[in-house]
Amino acid sequence: MFENLTDKLEKAFHILKGHGRITEVNVADTLKEVRRALLDADVNFKIAKEFTNTVKEKALGQKVLTSLQPGQLLVKIVRDEMAALMGGQASDINLQGAPAVILIAGLQGSGKTTFSAKLASYIKRKKGRNPMLVAADVYRPAAIDQLKVLGQQINVPVFSIPENMNPVEIAQKGIEEAKRLGHNVVIIDTAGRLSIDEQMMREIAEIHKTVKPSETLFVVDAMTGQDAVNTAKAFNDVLDYDGVVLTKLDGDTRGGAALSIRATVNKPIKFVGTGEKVDALDVFHPDRMADRILG
Ligand code: GDP
Repeated sequence: MFENLTDKLEKAFHILKGHGRITEVNVADTLKEVRRALLDADVNFKIAKEFTNTVKEKALGQKVLTSLQPGQLLVKIVRDEMAALMGGQASDINLQGAPAVILIAGLQGSGKTTFSAKLASYIKRKKGRNPMLVAADVYRPAAIDQLKVLGQQINVPVFSIPENMNPVEIAQKGIEEAKRLGHNVVIIDTAGRLSIDEQMMREIAEIHKTVKPSETLFVVDAMTGQDAVNTAKAFNDVLDYDGVVLTKLDGDTRGGAALSIRATVNKPIKFVGTGEKVDALDVFHPDRMADRILG
């Protein structure tokens, strides 16, 4: 994960190691390399620039040049700013409501269905709740079967209405069924398309308006880099969602999406998917991620 970025940052900080005394020029050279590393990681140009400017200001403010271990202090400032860029604190999921309704949105192939099952399993194991899954991805028939298979694996029931093509109705009936059966969390897996289209946006907005979810999560494939950030923005304009789920982080060597999304949409990354299996889900901790990136 993010090996290239870690490597390049290490090289950037190496500039400082070779010097007994550090000058403003050394710091500027290092930050230039840091910025280059961020750009190579597919971080948006403006975000990378602002990031290094902030680090520079803080470095001057904290008198890096006259400190005992200037190199280490600069690494610490970069680390803290990187955690802040990704949201600072970990952000929990809102499970208020009877039942709590969680709406899952995103493009087709982003990992929505897989994540819905992962989340159900997480909520059951870690939050001690009794979730039900609702299969409202009516355009990809395999999605319903896929969710059922996953549901069986984790022992969570999956509500679906075969032949019904109206996802709003399926979502509403699913919530009624959950109430009847005493499930206190409902996770609704919705349809996505290969790219953003108006009909999909209208449909998801209608489901959102009707079921009034306690939590709306936007799922996106981390490997798509800047595209992930643009898609996050388009969905946020329509849904004003509560959090982002970055999937396929296990295959993302660059890290641009993880580093840019928060600054672009101002919504926290709440979970990351780290594999195809139902237990390959982590709560996102910006500080731990920053530690990891800096090696
Ligand atoms: P949907 O169309 O958005 O519902 O996407 P799916 O849940 O069907 O996922 C698409 C593909 O991505 C499937 O082959 C999943 O197994 C895979 N996938 C989902 N999440 C992850 C993840 O975190 N890591 C990896 N490596 N693969 C994932």
